[in-house]
Amino acid sequence: MINGLTVDLEDWYHICGVEGYSDPQNWDTYENRIIRNTDKVLALLRTYKVRATFFVLGYIAFKEPDLIRTIKSEGHEIATHGFYHKRIFEMTEREFEEDVHKSISVISSNINEDVLGFRAPEWSIRKETPWMLKILRKLGILYDSSMVPLTRMGSRDFPLYPCKFTTDYGVIWEFPLTTTRLFWEHLPFTGGLPLRIFPYFYIVSKIQRINREGYPVIVYIHPWEFDVEQPHIDLPVSRRFMHYFNIKATCKKVEGLLQHFQFSTVKDVLGIRT
Ligand SMILES: [Zn+2]
Repeated sequence: MINGLTVDLEDWYHICGVEGYSDPQNWDTYENRIIRNTDKVLALLRTYKVRATFFVLGYIAFKEPDLIRTIKSEGHEIATHGFYHKRIFEMTEREFEEDVHKSISVISSNINEDVLGFRAPEWSIRKETPWMLKILRKLGILYDSSMVPLTRMGSRDFPLYPCKFTTDYGVIWEFPLTTTRLFWEHLPFTGGLPLRIFPYFYIVSKIQRINREGYPVIVYIHPWEFDVEQPHIDLPVSRRFMHYFNIKATCKKVEGLLQHFQFSTVKDVLGIRT
């Protein structure tokens, strides 16, 4: 079984809903750490000869075109994470279309190739944004990887495993965030805080179980999770915990997963051919 490995390519200050930091007008004033942090991720993938999908923020593609070309030259898939890292449920349908369109234009002109995949900033697709898949397909996107089947973050009606949706513009794949059933809720465990908190053996056994059932999982990482020296943003306590807790564990756990399991790009896992 081949699983999906994904990187949300954004810098340490790309955080939604925090005064100052979520305003793109301020972004140029912050220290740029994306190149050194992405280099660490690329080195790890090179060591284990793994290809991944990079959901690139359009702003990063605009500022660092050479970085995107380097990632592509190492065999990875380049997809989009939107342009300004805005939550979907805070945008109108039109604003969403403009943001994604802008990101696709910049990224595809950088790499000279079509952009096929999308991931929403902070997994921010909700039931109240049913137009999202339609707009993505209209813009040429063939798969989305943004749905979280959780009450609090997404919707319990969202799918648990990869599937297809039909829109006015054609069929689009969805590769939702991998979760595991615990009592009455589905819990994520393959990235971010859950990956850093859960014991490694627990994560491995859950992935093995899902793979045995015939489904791939999706692992997600951010370059800033490989940066223990990054400047800390003054966040409310719960978000601070979610963002920074046990950040030094990320690299070791991801390295373990790369040794234990087979990974590839989302495009490959879904068998999308163009
Ligand atoms: Zn993001």
